[in-house]
Amino acid sequence: MTITIGVLALQGDVREHLAALEAAGARAVTVRRPEELARVDGLVLPGGESTTIDKLLRVFELDEPLRDRVAAGLPVYGSCAGMILLADRILAGTADQRTVGGLDVTVRRNAFGRQVDSFETDLPFAGLPGDDPTVHAVFIRAPWVEETGPGVEVLARIPDAGTPGIPEPAAGRIVAVQQGSLLATSFHPEISGDTRVHELFVEIAKG
Ligand code: GLN
Repeated sequence: MTITIGVLALQGDVREHLAALEAAGARAVTVRRPEELARVDGLVLPGGESTTIDKLLRVFELDEPLRDRVAAGLPVYGSCAGMILLADRILAGTADQRTVGGLDVTVRRNAFGRQVDSFETDLPFAGLPGDDPTVHAVFIRAPWVEETGPGVEVLARIPDAGTPGIPEPAAGRIVAVQQGSLLATSFHPEISGDTRVHELFVEIAKG
C-alpha cells in the first residue's frame, strides 16, 4: 500500500523532506491549502523558522484545519521547527507565537544557545528500521524537549556529559519523541541522506 504524505510547504526545507519521503516509499506532496491537507494520510512539518511558519499557517488559513486533523489522529512528523509547532508548550518562543500542538511536551526553542548554534553527533535512536541503532544527527538552532507528558515515549537523547564534542548544557537532553502517531526530532534527518527516520514515520502513518 502506498500512502500519501504531505509536507507543509509554507517555509523551510520542504524539498529535502519530499525526497526523503519518496525514498522511504511514500508518495510525497506539498501542502499549502486546506484542500491539499484534507487529501493526505500523514504530514511532515519541516525545519525552518517556527515563528514564520506559525504566522503563515494563519495567513493561509491552515491553522484551524491542521489543529482539527491532528486532534482527529492525523500522523505528523515534526523536525526542528516542526517539533516546536507540534509541542503543546514552548519556552523562549516569541510573545505572540502559537503552536499547532497535540504533542504533550514542553520544548525550549533555540535551546542549545548561541555558542553552539549548530553541531552534529551520533545518537542511539529507538525503533529505527534495520540493525543499526545509531543516527547521525544534525542540529541547527534546534529546540530540545524539556518535559514530557505521561503518554510520550523518548526515542533519543544527546549522549552524556563527557562525551567528546557534546556541549555541556546539551548533555542528556531529549531530542526525539513519539506519542501515538506523532513523531518529533530536534534534528534534521532529511539533510543527512539517511532515510530511516522517514521510514519509521511512514510505518507509523500506515498504522
Ligand atoms: N530556531 C528555529 C525555530 O525557532 C528552528 C530551526 C530549524 O528548524 N532548523 O523555529
